[in-house]
Amino acid sequence: MQFISTRSADVTVGIDDAILQGLARDGGLFMPTKYTRVDLDQFKNNQELGEFACQLLKPFFDKSQLRSELAAICTEAFSFKIPLRNLEKNLYSLELFHGPTSAFKDVGARFLAACMARLNTLANHDKPLTILVATSGDTGGAVASAFHQKTGVKVAVLFPKGQVSARQQQQLTCWGDNIHSFCIEGSFDDCQRLVKTALLDTDLSTNMRLSSANSISIARLLPQMVYYAQSSLSHFRQNSQPLNFVIPSGNLGNSFACLLARELGFPIGNVVLATNQNRVVPDFLSTGVFQPQPSIHTLASAMDVGNPSNLERIRKLFPENRELNRKLSAQWVSDGCIEQAIKDAHRQWELVICPHTATALHVYSKMSAEEKNRDWALVATADAAKFETVVEPLIGEPIALPNQLSKLLKREQIFSSLSSRFADFKQTLLA
Ligand SMILES: *Cc1c(COP(=O)(O)O)cnc(C)c1O
Repeated sequence: MQFISTRSADVTVGIDDAILQGLARDGGLFMPTKYTRVDLDQFKNNQELGEFACQLLKPFFDKSQLRSELAAICTEAFSFKIPLRNLEKNLYSLELFHGPTSAFKDVGARFLAACMARLNTLANHDKPLTILVATSGDTGGAVASAFHQKTGVKVAVLFPKGQVSARQQQQLTCWGDNIHSFCIEGSFDDCQRLVKTALLDTDLSTNMRLSSANSISIARLLPQMVYYAQSSLSHFRQNSQPLNFVIPSGNLGNSFACLLARELGFPIGNVVLATNQNRVVPDFLSTGVFQPQPSIHTLASAMDVGNPSNLERIRKLFPENRELNRKLSAQWVSDGCIEQAIKDAHRQWELVICPHTATALHVYSKMSAEEKNRDWALVATADAAKFETVVEPLIGEPIALPNQLSKLLKREQIFSSLSSRFADFKQTLLA
């Protein structure tokens, strides 16, 4: 299958180049050119997640050098469970946070790392590949963990100063070896701008081999379809009805993956996006005018995005505003409502949820009785233990640390501080 840029029809590449380039040469994002409906009967019941992933993703890799490695890549990436937990009648939580850094971004990051490390070895270059990643909190940790000690690959992680939680910062800076962490005087949008500018900079590209690992990377998006595809299919086989999703959204990678899985024919009903007070997407859907904004700091900080990159892909998928509004909806949630939802989940189900997941619960709680009669899955994007300073005071008790997280918290932090000026960043990269 070929991949096309969101900006021009004549930029098409195979998946291997799409993965290595990250961003298309014209500054657009790569999209698959076809959405062939899959034959659902070919997926067996109770398949291992890695095996299911391999079957789903095979058509996207038909011309890839990685074709024969895809099964191994999927096993490596999907090495932890993704349960659909039943909360009450008609309501589920899709727990995406059981990976090494306790957030859903482990899925995409591990898949990307497994692909890139192999492509890099196959290409046999003399210069190392440098991966740039801007993070509002969770991406950087997941990418650093996924690439740590992979040979021939270096990673530069950029995070906004003072805008990630202490435990997130620990996950961004505890690696060393081939991982370099930069604390940027600015916002997440500044970090993202530095990465995008660097990728298009000709000086840099003649001196070093650069790529990105942001959710703009197609190799992060494709594997995120897997959990929507598998959970909706197994739910459909048991309950004869589609599963509807509420998805905590920031840069819209996770929600794009859900929409794409539905286009492929999986039994997914409504897709509702929950954002925090960075409300550009709900505003865009209601007014038809997209107006990027500087990002605002909220309790759901991994979703503090004022100019979500993947909107470009969603608009390419559904170019007309009327159609777009039929295919998805979006609601924004205040910090006060996030706090309330965290308390409600704890009271009703003794469930401890993170501030991001709380946006989904709040949006669900406002639905009509008729809507709630259908089956919904709240997408649980991170472990609450990463955001203990927000969550513990609300529930009045300490949160148990998952094993993988307590291991990371024991390591030493190593990072450098930088301004948000591109010239500074460029100089550091070249040095
Ligand atoms: C990144 C992130 C999100 C937002 O996902 P997008 O794909 O950027 O929309 C939500 N919750 C958590 C915990 C995250 O880390």
